[in-house]
Amino acid sequence: MDGPVTSDQAARRQTKYIFFTGGVSSSLGKGLTASSLGRLLKCRGLRVTMCKLDPYINVDPGTMNPFEHGEVFVTEDGGETDLDLGHYERFIDENLHKGSNATTGRIYSSVIAKERRGDYLGKTVQVIPHVTDEIKHHIRKLGETGVDVVIVEIGGTVGDIEIVPFIEAIRQFRRDVGRENVCYVHLTLVPYLGPSGEQKTKPTQHSVTELRSRGIQPNVIVCRSDRMISDDLKRKISLLCDVPIEAVVSAVDAANIYQIPLVLHEEGLDAYIMDALEVDPSAHPIDLGPWEHLVEQVEAAVRPVRIGIIGKYVDLPDAYLSVVEALRHAGFHHGARVEIEWVQAATVPDLLDRDGLKVFDGLVIPGGFGERGIEGKIAAARYAREHELPLLGLCLGLQVMIIEVSRSLAGLQGANSREFEATTRHPVIDLMDEQVDVADKGGTMRLGSYSARLAPGSQVARAYGVEVVSERHRHRYEVNPRYRDQLEATGLVCSGVSPDGRLVEFIELPGHPFWVGTQAHPEFKSRPDQPHPLFRELVGAALVRAEGRDPRLLDLGAVG
Ligand code: GLN
Repeated sequence: MDGPVTSDQAARRQTKYIFFTGGVSSSLGKGLTASSLGRLLKCRGLRVTMCKLDPYINVDPGTMNPFEHGEVFVTEDGGETDLDLGHYERFIDENLHKGSNATTGRIYSSVIAKERRGDYLGKTVQVIPHVTDEIKHHIRKLGETGVDVVIVEIGGTVGDIEIVPFIEAIRQFRRDVGRENVCYVHLTLVPYLGPSGEQKTKPTQHSVTELRSRGIQPNVIVCRSDRMISDDLKRKISLLCDVPIEAVVSAVDAANIYQIPLVLHEEGLDAYIMDALEVDPSAHPIDLGPWEHLVEQVEAAVRPVRIGIIGKYVDLPDAYLSVVEALRHAGFHHGARVEIEWVQAATVPDLLDRDGLKVFDGLVIPGGFGERGIEGKIAAARYAREHELPLLGLCLGLQVMIIEVSRSLAGLQGANSREFEATTRHPVIDLMDEQVDVADKGGTMRLGSYSARLAPGSQVARAYGVEVVSERHRHRYEVNPRYRDQLEATGLVCSGVSPDGRLVEFIELPGHPFWVGTQAHPEFKSRPDQPHPLFRELVGAALVRAEGRDPRLLDLGAVG
């Protein structure tokens, strides 16, 4: 028989909402801080989901330039989302979905669609209440998915013009669901000024004032800084910003991002927030063991291995954030410190003249769109094939490997993708035939999870350890089935295909240590404590090379 319902159980019936806002500056690591809190709450046995509300007007980040905005993170259900969702998934180890990211553009689209349908008939449609209601509806739906806690990060910083409806919506939200069910966390910067040798609280005061002017008094202030915040300084922030001293949390720069949950837990953040939400922390003891084990693994990852990423957006490493993280995760597994070097694809032909790719133990050719640097990527794929250099091709990477084999081994001179050369004689990569509405740039891609059958005994089947896999996709083009026999006659193996056998999903080259391509984006599914099998194998093969080769090559210095 069930015992009496304790007040804690009763409180848990109600979903709790934690809102993260940021002040002072962007890029303070709001997403990582929110993710870290999510992990701590999960370590306490709570069911957690997360969401990012982005005030920009694009309907989703799918159409944004990765060079400006960083990677587009793809969810299982094909959402093209903000890269912070990648942090969320990696930290809380839960798959998120399209609804886990909403922008001003998306919110307005649904308000306008409702207006056209006549849902507001007779009313003047306004930011308050219609847009704010739409935002609140979006948040509330997340709370109806059987979770205990919804963590919502508001993108941008308080004071931005576009953020106002979001701040207003989350302010109202507390009235709607009750004070004890909402906690506001505000992240600020406490800079250290060298000349005066002091940490400054003024930016924090100003940004809290700005938040208050919109009607929100934060429950917790997380202070980012490059050094610990003294108790005296915390007392000052506590007094001026009107929060208890225990609610001023010092989030000092961590040696690696996986330490952040431990740093925040030391500061008492999770316990304080649970108290504020009237969830008894002692009823949910924390088990940090597995996460501490991960951090030990990260710290013990010292075997150097050098991986080159041959890309287009190499000036903004965030453009390939999940690829970098997946490489690191693979490194943790092998006890390896993965040193990543960015190679601008267009420079590869020059580098090859100087034997410049010799310094690498492995290569990744990541996903991408557009022609720039393609010939360099093809040259890199060829070099890797001819020199037994481990290579993993992701999406566009696979397509480049197909073009390379077509030209070098299948005798298909001038073979290309129709994406880069509409009139090519040998379109070995072509548009998928289910192409629809090409005018809608946001809606023409094969997006989200699709499964593939792997060839028994192949390198990829051995890596995965299963013969049916599911990976996330984001592409318009595919291997042209008309050329498949000619390609396979060269020795290339199409080691994974779609369930109907039509689409090539994985390729490999028997006899090569690791020359593997996938039409998917496996990087999105890698987790720090569960490295993705293909990245694990790539780094494993690269380590063999690193540790068996002439160490003098490491002195060649940076390339690119
Ligand atoms: N541009 C290629 C396509 O659309 C590859 C896409 C990608 O790498 N994500 O098929």
